[in-house]
Amino acid sequence: MTLTIEQKINQLRAELHQHNYNYYVLDNAVISDYEFDLKLKELEKLESENPQFFDANSPTQRVGGEITKNFKTVAHKNRMYSLDNSYSKEDLLDWEKRIKKILETEEINYTCELKYDGASINLSYEKGVLVSAVTRGDGFEGDDVTANIKTIKSIPLVLKTPFVDSFEIRGEIILPLKGFNKMNEERIEAGEDPYMNPRNTASGSLKLQDSAEVSKRPLDCLLYQIVADKNPNKTHFEALEMAKKLGFKIPNTIQICSTINEVFNFIEKWDEERLQLPYETDGVVIKVNSLSQQDELGYTAKSPRWAIAYKFKTEQESTVLNEITYQVGRTGAITPVANLEPVQLAGTIVKRASLHNADQIEKLDVRVGDTVFVEKGGEIIPKIVGVDLNARPLNSQPTVYITHCPDCNTELVRTVGDAKHYCPNEYGCPTQITGRIQHFISRKAMNIDGLGAETVELLFKEGLIHNYADLYELRVEQITPLERMAEKSAQNIIVGIQKSTEVPFEKVLFALGIRFVGETVAKKLAKHFKSIDNLMNATFEELITVDEIGDVIAKSVVDFFKNDLNNDLIGRLKKYGVQLEVSAESQEGKTTILLGKIFVVSGVFTHFDRIGLKKSIEDNGGKVASSISKKTDYIVAGENMGPSKLSKAESLQIPIISEIDYLKMIS
Ligand code: AMP
Ligand code: ZN
Repeated sequence: MTLTIEQKINQLRAELHQHNYNYYVLDNAVISDYEFDLKLKELEKLESENPQFFDANSPTQRVGGEITKNFKTVAHKNRMYSLDNSYSKEDLLDWEKRIKKILETEEINYTCELKYDGASINLSYEKGVLVSAVTRGDGFEGDDVTANIKTIKSIPLVLKTPFVDSFEIRGEIILPLKGFNKMNEERIEAGEDPYMNPRNTASGSLKLQDSAEVSKRPLDCLLYQIVADKNPNKTHFEALEMAKKLGFKIPNTIQICSTINEVFNFIEKWDEERLQLPYETDGVVIKVNSLSQQDELGYTAKSPRWAIAYKFKTEQESTVLNEITYQVGRTGAITPVANLEPVQLAGTIVKRASLHNADQIEKLDVRVGDTVFVEKGGEIIPKIVGVDLNARPLNSQPTVYITHCPDCNTELVRTVGDAKHYCPNEYGCPTQITGRIQHFISRKAMNIDGLGAETVELLFKEGLIHNYADLYELRVEQITPLERMAEKSAQNIIVGIQKSTEVPFEKVLFALGIRFVGETVAKKLAKHFKSIDNLMNATFEELITVDEIGDVIAKSVVDFFKNDLNNDLIGRLKKYGVQLEVSAESQEGKTTILLGKIFVVSGVFTHFDRIGLKKSIEDNGGKVASSISKKTDYIVAGENMGPSKLSKAESLQIPIISEIDYLKMIS
């Protein structure tokens, strides 16, 4: 039996939902990434050829693309309370006493869960399908972030088995440490400041306007409570077990405890073992397990009486600050580094900690010789959180921030509103010069095989290169005499450099190392301006009209091209054959996605004007007709669609789609 297209699409969707579940929830993939991609591509193709089967919850929708300018505020159906905190065994014993008194029983079981450190979220499901995701906000109302949440692959869009018609489930959006550290490595590569911690980054991600951007962040969602009018479960633990079966990610660290002593054991165990977890936790949440007992206990003005959080003390150690040194980044940004008397902290020996910038030093009033408190969260680099003033030596002197570059001795500058000091000697400061070349050759930029960071330093020291354009003039016989350099590796370097002339324009643009132009911004700029010449000629005003390009980036781009040295380098790159414009096919921005389809456009739109929408349909292979007939495939309707068109469309049963649906069709 052959499947109809609709059946084939549904089958692929179900399969891909299951593979997502295996991979992201169970952490147990059964097919390779490659096979997964093939299936996803197949589904994408079928969906775009048959847009009548569009489904907002298809696995293809995980990549995002919807832009939210202002998040809608929506009221919670059930208030999202906060939790009372406790910090000691005594606090917990007091809590137990209080609830025993209200319940008039000694028989209480508890569920212990970790307190996941992220941003809370309320997911609503109707008839087995995710319909909305709202942040906690003030507990009464929050922001609708559904489009962003849908990109998180461990959140089921469609449930494996049906549950009651409608219910809510609550959890925490977290950014696991591995992903967080990787994001930071990439930011540092792009010359940007690293994010401070996973929690803020997770909650910041939920409010990004571009859901495609969110889909790239390795976010995860751990669930901890079901809210349903008709909950078939008797206990909280059972409810979570059921949620697990429905396809949600429930950590298996949860445990039932039948006495408060078992609760203490749970806390002690995780206070130690939490450092091995893939995500951050700042405590334990203890909940009365019986749902009827929960009902009986109810809520105070702010929090449930049936639950309490126990906060871990953060790992903190004190040690002596021996010296403050200063690092120069490739953009000239100066970072002060605390060199510490080595101290054991959270399982590792800490010798250095970031001091971030001059303000931070002033705020903490840290001085050489001070005994400082060091903390370590999930970040790669630990941080100094305070000074033990009682231990300050008598002869202590306030820290005077450096005024000149530690590398080239140029006077540092600091612009208003910028926390960092910069070395302005962009083209003479050795660290900045090699840093820029190292960035140029890096994997996400020109990806020059065979050439590493150390070789760049060596080539610079030997006077063979002074900038990235010089790379293209290197010859094998210049490289071979260098220390530890075999003829073969020298040849590889030259081949790698030559091959980099095929790297597409967007990567070249990223490679140039324009401040604030990271990978994503480079893509946006390349797509919009299409060539380096257009970008060079763009004014500040033109630049800020581009989606996501703000004042800071625009100014940085304009400044970059104002500099003759840069223009000179670009002129040379052109000569060597480096790609400085987008390729012909992507240049035209044309596709055949809508081939053979006839559209009628009606109403007022937000993303397009009418002419723009018609052009977009034609650019993607579709046809635009002026009136509705039996031949019409789709009506793209904006605000205030004409009533006669509406009734005609309805009588001929022609699908009416929104602008957003249209955008999804062509994306
Ligand atoms: P607080 O923000 O300190 O009032 O703590 C309450 C918040 O802890 C809730 O809004 C949740 O977002 C979060 N939380 C993290 N893990 C859990 C958990 N296992 N159970 C309940 N709440 C949790
Ligand atoms: Zn310098």
